[in-house]
Amino acid sequence: MGSTPAAALPALQTKPKFIFFTDFDGTITQQDSNDFMTDNLGFGAEKRKLANAGVLTGKRDFRDSFTEMLDSVTTPFDKCIETLIQNITLDQGFKEFFAWARENNVPIVVLSGGMEPIIRALLAHFLGEEEAGSMQIVSSNVAVRPGKKSIDEEGGWMIVYHDDSGFGHDKSLEIRPYANLPEGERPVLFYAGDGVSDLSAAKETDLLFAKAGRDLVTYCENENVPFQTFHSFYDILDTVKAIVSGEINVKDAAIGRK
Ligand SMILES: [Mg+2]
Repeated sequence: MGSTPAAALPALQTKPKFIFFTDFDGTITQQDSNDFMTDNLGFGAEKRKLANAGVLTGKRDFRDSFTEMLDSVTTPFDKCIETLIQNITLDQGFKEFFAWARENNVPIVVLSGGMEPIIRALLAHFLGEEEAGSMQIVSSNVAVRPGKKSIDEEGGWMIVYHDDSGFGHDKSLEIRPYANLPEGERPVLFYAGDGVSDLSAAKETDLLFAKAGRDLVTYCENENVPFQTFHSFYDILDTVKAIVSGEINVKDAAIGRK
C-alpha cells in the first residue's frame, strides 16, 4: 500500500491540488442508465428493485445482481446507446462544474461500475467529443458474448467487469494510491456519488458529496463518513469553489444533510 509511484497516477499529470472523483450514473446524470435499460429493455423495474434491496441488506453481491440485470437486456448495443441518448439527462449543474474544474486544474475522474462506451457516448452527447475525451474514465467495459459475432446484434453483448471484487468495480482501489501519497504531494480528494456502487469509495476521500434522498446518505450516517448532501452539481460547485479559494476547509464542509 502507498507504493504506487506518483508518475503512475494519471490524475497527477497537471500537479493538481484537488482531484474530483465521481460516480457517473445518477450522479452526473439524472437517471441511472443501467437501471433505465433494465426497466425499459430488460426484466423491468419491479424485479430490479427487489435485487437492489438484497444488495443493500448484504444478502447478495452487487456484482451478481448487476450481471443478472444487464443479462436481461438483449437489445443490440448500438440501439441501447441510441435509446439512452434519447432518455438520459445531465445533472443541471454539471456542465458549469466541468468548465470551472477544467479552468482551475481540478481533474475529474469518473469511476463507474457501468460500461465505458455508454459513458463516453453520453458525455460526448452532453459536453462535446473533445470535452468528453479530456476526462479520465475508469469503469467496466463491454464484449461480444460467446457465440455471437457483434455487440450490435440481438443478445450480442455482455458486461466485462473492471476487477474481481464483489462490486465489479472496487472504486476504493482507484482512489487509495492518491490517498496514500505523502504529505505535501497528496491533493485534497473529493468524491460524488449516489448509491450502492459508491459504498467502497465512500471512506477514501476527504469530502464526500452524497446525492440527497439516495441510499448513500443513509450509509454515510450509519458509518460516520464525513459528507455533505447535494441536489445538483451547482451545490457541489459552490462548496468546491469555497474550499479551493480557502474560504472554508473540507472538515467544515462535511455538514451532513442540508
Ligand atoms: Mg450511481
